[in-house]
Amino acid sequence: MLPPRCHVCHLEPAQSPLGDARSDFVLVYFADAVNPPPGWVGHPAGAVWFCGEHASLGEEREHLGSDTALRDIDAVLGRLPGRLSKTDR
Ligand SMILES: [Zn+2]
Repeated sequence: MLPPRCHVCHLEPAQSPLGDARSDFVLVYFADAVNPPPGWVGHPAGAVWFCGEHASLGEEREHLGSDTALRDIDAVLGRLPGRLSKTDR
């Protein structure tokens, strides 16, 4: 499991002020997410972190596959797909 880090703004809980709404990180499981087997450690495929401010962007697209959903979010935000460095896997 990766530590929380917003897909949209790359905020991490340690960077957000205490009590800030954005510190409520949400792990959104997209349509292609799979439940990892018991005891498996790692980040589940198809699951993406969002901060409280951007969680709705992910939750609105839970029915989509993660690739489609993330591309759609990037498009909505006016970001070009693949332009940001991919440090998440
Ligand atoms: Zn965010």
